[in-house]
Formats: sequence, C-alpha cells, structure tokens
Amino acid sequence: MADLRETKPRGLVIAIDGPAGAGKSTLASRLARRLGYLNIETGAMYRALALKAIENDVDVDDERALLDLALSSKISLEPQIDGNRVKLDNTDVSQRIREKDVTEAASRVSVHPAVRAWMVNKQRELGSAGGVVMEGRDIGTAVFPNAEVKIFLDAAPEVRGHRRFHQANMAEPSAAVLAEMRARDERDRTRAVSPLVAAQDAVLLDSTSMTLEQVIETAEEIVKEKIAKAVNCEL
Ligand code: C5P
Repeated sequence: MADLRETKPRGLVIAIDGPAGAGKSTLASRLARRLGYLNIETGAMYRALALKAIENDVDVDDERALLDLALSSKISLEPQIDGNRVKLDNTDVSQRIREKDVTEAASRVSVHPAVRAWMVNKQRELGSAGGVVMEGRDIGTAVFPNAEVKIFLDAAPEVRGHRRFHQANMAEPSAAVLAEMRARDERDRTRAVSPLVAAQDAVLLDSTSMTLEQVIETAEEIVKEKIAKAVNCEL
C-alpha cells in the first residue's frame, strides 16, 4: 500500500461519524497521525459544556441558559498523539469530562438546536483550513457536508458496549451502563436537529467482527481511494 503521507494533497476534511463505542476516536487519531492531520473530537466540546452546566447548576434542559453559558465559555481542543487535551476556561478537564455524570449530561445538552448551532460554528472554524480528521455524530451531515471523505463507523450494540468496558478497564459490562449507552444512542438518533444518521455519500463501515487493525486498514483504503478521486490521479 502506498504511504498516505506521500500521496495526500493538503487540506482535506475527513469526517468520521457513528454511535458511541464504535471505535471512532481510535480510528480518527490513528488516521490523523498517519496523514499528519489534526484530530478533532467534537464530542469533547459537548462534554465540556455539559461539565460547565453541572459546575454552574444550569439545567441541561434549559436551552437559553446553556447557550448563554456557551457564549461565556472558552472551550479548546488541543490535538495530542492519542486524542485531544480538552480545556474549559483554561483548565484541563480531559479526564473529568469522561465521567458518568458528564457523559449523561452531554447527551442531553446536545439535543438543543441553539447549542448545536454554536458548536457547529466552532467546529467549522476549527476545520476551515482542512487537514483535519473530525469525529462526532453530525460531521458529514451538518458540520462539513462537503467533506471529501466521510466514514460512518458502526458496530452491533453488544460489541460497542464491550469495547467501552474494555477501554474503561472494567471486568465485564454492567447492565446499567449498557442501558445508559443505549439511551444515549436513542437520544442521538431521534433528536429533531442533526440526528445521528449516515450521510448519503458516507462509506459505511461495520466494525462488529473486525479487529482495530482491520478497521484502520479498511479506513485507510477508503481514504486513499477518495484522495485519488479528489486529485484525479493514480496512486
Ligand atoms: O463522542 P462522545 O461520546 O464524546 O460525545 C458525547 C455526546 O455528545 C454524545 O452522546 C452525543 O450526544 C453528543 N455529540 C453530538 N454531536 C457530535 C458529537 C457528540 O451530538 N458531533
């Protein structure tokens, strides 16, 4: 296989969407590293705002208050070798935003149209120069509908649940956490604005019976093919 670093033109946008636990973050960070691109985890932005709401006793169902909070917040993502360092008002919250209460709150915060509009604007700014692998739920449909490469990464719910547990170094999935993941998925898929859905021109990648290495290899092939089309030349 040709080395992607030698063949890529500069500045593409690679959108990776899909449900929780499908492996998006790992895939995005590995692809970004291979390509020398920035890796942007958009879920971390929703998580940071949710944390701010928790810290300020703001109701996660109060859209207006959440927007005000967003407007007075500084959320920054600093791409690192294995994911993003996340800062909220200059404090590193990378670990804290992965905790259960924030995970639940982020899912609720993300249903509000005004919050989503604010997030999408920020995300477009972050990706405007291209050269990014952006990962989330609505990147290929709403944030960058013209992204050159779109991958929708999915996997069966049980497999996604197990992967999440593995990541968290837990012995086995608890029914409660599996149920929480399903509830989050359901909220993402059924919300009125930008529900989780594959863009019509996304390549669907079902990782249920694939290893991480196979997922990465397949995604690299997809990227290579799209890049070849984009530059209209043979690799
Ligand atoms: O990807 P992650 O699990 O960190 O995302 C946290 C939450 O943020 C998700 O449950 C989802 O509701 C929301 N989200 C979103 N749109 C995105 C990224 C995340 O609605 N682009």
